Amino acid sequence: MTMVDGKVGNSATGTKSTSRCYICGATTKDFNKIDVQKQIIPEAIEFGLSVLHARIRLFESILHLAYMLPVKKYRERKTEAEKSIELEKKREIQKRFRQETGLLVDILKANFGNTNDDNTSRRFFEDPILASDITGISYDVIFRIKVILEAISSGHIINSEKYDKYALDTARLYVQLYSWHPMSPTMHKILIHGAVITKKRFIAHTAAFRRGRRSTK
Ligand SMILES: [Zn+2]
Repeated sequence: MTMVDGKVGNSATGTKSTSRCYICGATTKDFNKIDVQKQIIPEAIEFGLSVLHARIRLFESILHLAYMLPVKKYRERKTEAEKSIELEKKREIQKRFRQETGLLVDILKANFGNTNDDNTSRRFFEDPILASDITGISYDVIFRIKVILEAISSGHIINSEKYDKYALDTARLYVQLYSWHPMSPTMHKILIHGAVITKKRFIAHTAAFRRGRRSTK
């Protein structure tokens, strides 16, 4: 049960809204308050993280933040002029990705869903310099998220203390730069609970390792 996406995690723990974190119960308005101690629901950690799901969601979080960057309003009422500025920014970002990388970014498909898939999100994080240049989002934020995604998908045992520090520093940097825009639920999960989840995995790895050693004796 370590590889389910946010939606399954939410339904399995009885959390209704997908903008609510199923691990600590925090909602969007709490996501940027990174120093508030959060009560963790122990069973929720069992769900772990799907790296593929996380990569696509984080990619989308950065895109949505980028669209709003010129106006810097999250859920506050926007004027028609502000709405068109955001739309213009979105078009400009899509155009540059298409021209410079050939990627179709955040475009609705005829049947269902959109073009934000595994390949698109992987390519986005492969080149943080270009991703930052096109979106206008901090290179450091994109680069740090890329490093975190690589660490959790590496299959290696992760030092959860180091992970925690790196992820928290990333969360602080995000809040410092984008206090007007809450982190997305996935970003919150990866940056705030990632260490707890990786520790869980670490324990599982160690137990398997010990079992393996015993059986070869
Ligand atoms: Zn949480």
